[in-house]
Amino acid sequence: QSYFEGVQQAPPDSILGITEGFLADKSPNKLNLGVGAYRTEEGKPLVLSAVLKAQRIVVDDRSRNKARARDEYQPIGGNAQFCALSAALAYGPDFDGLRDGRVAVVQTLSGTGALAVGGAFLARHYAASKQVFVPNPTWGNHHGVFGSVGLTVKTYRYYHAATRALDYEGMLSDLRAAEPGAVVLLHACAHNPTGVDPTPDQWRGILAVVQERGLMPFFDSAYQGFASGDLDADAGALRMFASARRRDGSPQEMLLAQSFAKNMGLYGERVGALSVVTQSPEVRKRVDSQLKVAIRVMYSNPPIHGAAIAAMVMANPALSAEWQAELAGMAGRIKDMRRALVDALAAAGAPGNWDHITSQGAQAWLAA
Ligand code: PMP
Repeated sequence: QSYFEGVQQAPPDSILGITEGFLADKSPNKLNLGVGAYRTEEGKPLVLSAVLKAQRIVVDDRSRNKARARDEYQPIGGNAQFCALSAALAYGPDFDGLRDGRVAVVQTLSGTGALAVGGAFLARHYAASKQVFVPNPTWGNHHGVFGSVGLTVKTYRYYHAATRALDYEGMLSDLRAAEPGAVVLLHACAHNPTGVDPTPDQWRGILAVVQERGLMPFFDSAYQGFASGDLDADAGALRMFASARRRDGSPQEMLLAQSFAKNMGLYGERVGALSVVTQSPEVRKRVDSQLKVAIRVMYSNPPIHGAAIAAMVMANPALSAEWQAELAGMAGRIKDMRRALVDALAAAGAPGNWDHITSQGAQAWLAA
């Protein structure tokens, strides 16, 4: 008689479960639309040339210096150069919070790890509220990750099915009704799964309600560069929040989970960062210490390889330029695919209006 006899079968993950089904399917015409991974014209994963070059440099360097201590454990917070470069990529190099040393940054196991560490930190050390509001719908794992660290997950209206657009009024009214201090999860760009992002004007309205209600923004940035092809444009919303001041003049605080899975094609290397914008270097230091406690008990310290590659791409001007050109290429092809799909639907005489497919992922921040 097994001691594990009572273990119940869990349902397959709604997204990764599709990949299992896909792999098992024998059809030659199969197409996996489940997991959000970029595919080339040939339906293959794309290894970015800038990333490949950075990897060669990193591997050469590491094999030459194998005996060095930095090939042993990383610090709990990971690669400090990677952390600094990631924060500058998201917030912009001129962000006064970085200059003033009031942003805590740690390397994480991709975006999921950043959300988990951020959630664990909030659950233990954020006194204002234990509620986190996520959009309806959202990436399904938001519910699981935040729920598992003991936060109460609630939803705010986001997608209006009839118009296939943002339910802006519904969103604002749900945020206005949230308890003061509640955490609000916001998709920085390329909202998953709808592709519907607020316009810059709507972001201003969301920020106003966040400040009015004293809510804590937690940005999830899994697609920086993928929405518009431009890294700065896709960071527009989170930069608006990070640079905002509260009515009393104090800096807006917030959290940010960053993933390099999509924009560097480093999916399986699990490269990400969590940052917490505080109001002073003194608070930043204490927050940083608690992020490290949270990481230490979960997985001790993050892996070396992927973060070293990402840091190399961001630090080296030639590789960085090449990466950004490749990003623009990927974003452009995604846009072309949306257009081609709408054209094909029209040619096939599909009933209904499919304009939302091309209007989603609009490049509002480039115009703004
Ligand atoms: N947030 C969102 C909105 C996502 O779509 C994803 C990946 N699908 C993630 C976070 C996390 O991805 P990863 O852990 O691979 O970085």
